[in-house]
Amino acid sequence: MSRQKDHANLFDDARSRLREVFDAINVHGDARERLMQPNLAMQVSVPVRMDDGSLRVLPGWRVQYDNTLGPAKGGIRFHPDVNQDEVTTLSLWMAVKCAVVDLPYGGGKGGVKVDPKQLSKLELERLARGYVRAIADIMGPDRDIPAPDVNTNPTIMGWMADEFDHLARGKVPAAITGKPPALGGSLGRVAATGRGALHVLDMWASREQRRPEETTLAIQGFGNAAYHFARLAHERGYRIVAVSDSKGAIYSREGLDPDPIMEQKTQNQRLHDMVYCDDSVCIAEDAEPIERDDLLTLKADVLVLAALENQVHADNVDQIKAGALLEIANGPVTSRADERLEERGVPVLPDVLANTGGVIVSYYEWVQNRSGERWSEEDINQRLAERLKRESELVFERAEREEISYRKAAYRQGIERIADAIQRRGNCQDSD
Ligand code: NAD
Repeated sequence: MSRQKDHANLFDDARSRLREVFDAINVHGDARERLMQPNLAMQVSVPVRMDDGSLRVLPGWRVQYDNTLGPAKGGIRFHPDVNQDEVTTLSLWMAVKCAVVDLPYGGGKGGVKVDPKQLSKLELERLARGYVRAIADIMGPDRDIPAPDVNTNPTIMGWMADEFDHLARGKVPAAITGKPPALGGSLGRVAATGRGALHVLDMWASREQRRPEETTLAIQGFGNAAYHFARLAHERGYRIVAVSDSKGAIYSREGLDPDPIMEQKTQNQRLHDMVYCDDSVCIAEDAEPIERDDLLTLKADVLVLAALENQVHADNVDQIKAGALLEIANGPVTSRADERLEERGVPVLPDVLANTGGVIVSYYEWVQNRSGERWSEEDINQRLAERLKRESELVFERAEREEISYRKAAYRQGIERIADAIQRRGNCQDSD
């Protein structure tokens, strides 16, 4: 299934959603102008010395979409499909997302066009360090704070943080989040995106008076965000009937336990201490293999999208049989598919709310790094739960009051906050 199906341009698709929100809440002209394009988009070339002595030069990007509410914040993706359009769109979504959950951040995102699974561990480290050297001038705890995203993880953030310290000639742990705890990373960060998504699902389920034990989940993706979500959802009593990854999918009507699947998937892990592994969820015993994309059209109560963008699009939306969708990935449903789901009355718990757990705990990491404190995991999980409860309830109540989708309610909440701040900065901002 193509990721590029029913939209020529991801950024245009994202901006069309913005325009709708501007009209619906009557956003001030200055904010409309500012939010239609990024503050800063930087393209870089990252030279990587390969183990055989040859040089590869990889294209990379860092985009700071908006910094009205605070420094840019957002992950770094290593993937063969990364391009400027994708990174810009992801940075826009980060800006909205941070505002939805009331974080003092703007939106940023970065990426390198590379298949990192083809690199050795040392080549990967050189790439991580080279990328930081390329974007260092626009980074920093008060400017732009990267974090992990697809195919990047705490190990890679550790290398990046070390490189930034070298360049800064000092210790600047708050410049990057998602680091290993030994380098100032926050406890609870690795599981935070999945944990946050589960809070949002739980809150929705309890509003619908639906118990976890009577709710089935089909989960697309089995990476960092999806695995921790699956593990915690299984503990809570939800029945996971299917999971997939890029190589295939498995199904069990009785329900799958994510832990043994992860153990089997990672037993042949190629790079020590990394998430990359050559095996698929399909290696799991006691589960029926199914076609990877058939997972999307299973009859589950909730389809959980936790892989990449544009998975549900105009061509497959009418085959979706799930009763609701939970977006852990960024942008997994195109705007045309979203309209169709709304017409059909299928609720979507949107990315800009449902996947904020990661950036919320990244914020706690940044606060701990700046204050020199270390919070317990219990404390962090408690703060995460409280913030998500407060902000999700605002979104759910607004959706009900204004009779709109959860996505529209979340966007209105986020854009209203950014637009208000833009206006309060005055009439001569940056212009004289
Ligand atoms: P990851 O690289 O750890 O995992 C991605 C998973 O998706 C892998 O299991 C991969 O095999 C699978 N996948 C890729 N293509 C697929 C396909 N066509 N069908 C089924 N599975 C497929 O990445 P991650 O960090 O878990 O991120 C996943 C999504 O969640 C991304 O959209 C990311 O932007 C978003 N997200 C992640 C975080 C975070 O903290 N990690 C935070 C917010 C949002």
